[in-house]
Amino acid sequence: MNDCLFCKIIKKEMPSNIVYEDEEIIAFKDINPAAPIHILVIPKKHIEKVTDINTEDEAVVGKIYTVINKIAKEQGIYEKGFRVIINCGEDGGQQVKHLHFHLLGGKKLGPKIVG
Ligand code: 5GP
Ligand code: ZN
Repeated sequence: MNDCLFCKIIKKEMPSNIVYEDEEIIAFKDINPAAPIHILVIPKKHIEKVTDINTEDEAVVGKIYTVINKIAKEQGIYEKGFRVIINCGEDGGQQVKHLHFHLLGGKKLGPKIVG
């Protein structure tokens, strides 16, 4: 947990381009964007992956979606649309083991949702 990359970003021990922050949630630009707008929205609590979400996390996970809407408005993609992706575990292609929601937009994304 202490060497978690995203926990380091939360603690400002690692630089990042933050677009939103409150007491429970932080959002920052992906370092290797897959679309013109690619933002990672994460809970500040270290939850490793989707399957580690428990009942006490329901509120923050729900709030992440209202934060996504707020960011989408600020980024000018609220009307045109966007994609939200969460990778879970090895087969899901998850590389960073701290739950994160990819917010992707800024162009018409392809029809593929799996690769
Ligand atoms: P995953 O494959 O785990 O779903 O997504 C991890 C994401 O984190 C990738 O899109 C990758 O580009 C991004 N990422 C990895 N390291 C860093 C970093 O140090 N800073 C930022 N801002 N994004 C990162
Ligand atoms: Zn973490």
